[in-house]
Amino acid sequence: MADYDVDLFVIGGGSGGVRAARIAAEYGARVMLAEEYRLGGTCVIRGCVPKKLLVYASRFHGEFEDAAGFGWTVPHASFDWSTLIANKDKEIARLEAAYGGTLAKAGVKVVKNRGVLRDAHTVELSNGERVRAAYVLIATGGTPSYGDHIPGLEHAITSNEAFYLKEFPRRIVIQGGGYIAVEFAGIFAGLGSHVTLVYRGENILRGFDDDVRSHLRSELEARGIKVITGCKVAAIEKAGAHFSAHLAGGNHVTADQVMFATGRKPNTAKLGLKEAGVELANDGAVAVNKYSRTSTENVYAVGDVTNRINLTPVAIREGHAFADTVFGGKPTAVDHTNVATAVFSEPEVGTVGLTETQARAVLPRTDIYKATFKPLRATLSGRDTRVLMKLVVDGMSDRVVGCHVVGEGAAEMAQLAAVAVKMGASKADFDATVALHPTAAEELVTMRKKTASHVREAAE
Ligand SMILES: Cc1cc2nc3c(=O)[nH]c(=O)nc-3n(C[C@H](O)[C@H](O)[C@H](O)COP(=O)(O)OP(=O)(O)OC[C@H]3O[C@@H](n4cnc5c(N)ncnc54)[C@H](O)[C@@H]3O)c2cc1C
Repeated sequence: MADYDVDLFVIGGGSGGVRAARIAAEYGARVMLAEEYRLGGTCVIRGCVPKKLLVYASRFHGEFEDAAGFGWTVPHASFDWSTLIANKDKEIARLEAAYGGTLAKAGVKVVKNRGVLRDAHTVELSNGERVRAAYVLIATGGTPSYGDHIPGLEHAITSNEAFYLKEFPRRIVIQGGGYIAVEFAGIFAGLGSHVTLVYRGENILRGFDDDVRSHLRSELEARGIKVITGCKVAAIEKAGAHFSAHLAGGNHVTADQVMFATGRKPNTAKLGLKEAGVELANDGAVAVNKYSRTSTENVYAVGDVTNRINLTPVAIREGHAFADTVFGGKPTAVDHTNVATAVFSEPEVGTVGLTETQARAVLPRTDIYKATFKPLRATLSGRDTRVLMKLVVDGMSDRVVGCHVVGEGAAEMAQLAAVAVKMGASKADFDATVALHPTAAEELVTMRKKTASHVREAAE
C-alpha cells in the first residue's frame, strides 16, 4: 500500500461512501473521499430526511381536521411554504456539517470535487489532481430518470427540484407509481395542493403486496388525490405561468408543476468504469459479488450504484461490510433478506418479508391472515379511514414470512415486526405474545382467523 497516495479512495459522499470511509479510517487506512455536490448524499440532502420533514409538515392538515371531533376548535390554519423550506434547509445544512465533522474526526480527507477513474488505481479529480489508490470504492448513488422523451419534458421537475421550489404549487401532476411519487402526492395534498397522480401501470406501488396497493389507493383517493392508472403524461405544454399536462388518451390537466418520479438510475456515466475494467450488470448498475467487489479486484461498489436494495440503511450496511472485509480482516457479506421498508404516504405503509404473491410462488402452502378495521381515533374524528394488517405465513412451518401494514405508525410497526420475522418467529409465537391494548399493532398478535390458504400445485 506504501506505493499509493492513499489506501482507499471513495468516490461519493452519501450514505454508503461516508460509512465505508469512516470505518476504513478507523481501521487505520489512509482514506480520501470525493464528493461533487454535498456531503450526506441523496438521503440527507434530497431524499429520506428532507422528505420526512415535509411529510411531518403535511400531516398537520389532517390533525387540524381531526381535532374537531375531540372538542377542539382550531382557528383558520394557514401554511407558509417558504418558512418550511427555509427551516428544512437549515436542518439539512446542520446535518451536512455534522457528516463533515465525523469524517474529519476519523481522519478522512474530503475533497469537494468530482472524481473519475483513469485506471483501476488512479482517480482524477475535477481540479486536475490525480490520486493513486490501493483500493477504490464507487459509492456514487443514483439519479432520477425521466423514462421516454416526450415533448415539453424540460418543464418537468423531479424530487431533486421539488425540495427547493420557490412557490408552493396549488395544483400538481405527479407521474409515477413508486414510493417517491406516492409520498410526494401525500406531501403536496396534505399541504393543500390539488394532486393528480398519473401512473402507466395498473396500480400504484408495484412490487408491494396487492392488498396494500389497493388499500392505499382507496385511502389516497379518500384524501382527495386523483389517481389515474393505465395512463401517462404524453406532453407538457407551458401556458403562461402554468403547465398543461397532456395525457395519453386525449385529456389534459392544468397544473403549476409537473413532477416526474419515474424511477432512478445508477450514477455510472462518465465515471471511467470501462478504463478500470469495471463491468456493468444488464440493468446498468455496477455488477458486484456478495462482498461488493467488482470485476476489477481492487475496485468495490456499494449502495444505489449497485441497484441491490436502494435504501439508506442497506447502503450503510454495505459500506460498513466493505470496510470490515478489506481493512478489518473480517470478510462480511450483507444479508439482503427481510429488510423492512416503508412508504411515508398518508396513511403510512410498513412492510417486511414476502408479499402474498411472492410467498405463493415459492412455498408449498401459504396461509393468509388479514384484517381491516376502523382505528379507534377515527371513531371520534369521524375520518373515513381503515387500517389494513396482513400476515403471510408459511403453511408448512407456521413461520411468518411477511407482515404488511397500512395505517398510522405502520413504519414504526414494521421495524419491530422485522425483528420477529428475521428471527424466524412462527404464527404461534405471534399468538403467544400478549396484546398491548389499546393499539392498532395489537391486531398483529390477535389475528386468529385464517382468511385464505393457498396450496401450490406441482405445475405452478
Ligand atoms: C426522494 C427520495 C426519498 C428517499 N427516501 C428514503 C427513505 O425514506 N428511506 C430510505 O432508506 N431510503 C430513501 N431513499 C433512498 C436513499 O436516499 C438511497 O438509497 C441512499 O441515499 C443511497 O446511498 P448511496 O451512498 O448509495 O448514494 P447517495 O446517497 O446517492 O450518495 C452518492 C453521492 O455520490 C456523489 N457523486 C456521484 N458521482 C460522483 C462523482 N463522480 N464524484 C464525486 N461524487 C459523486 C453524489 O453527489 C452523492 O452525494 C430516498 C431517495 C429519494 C430520491
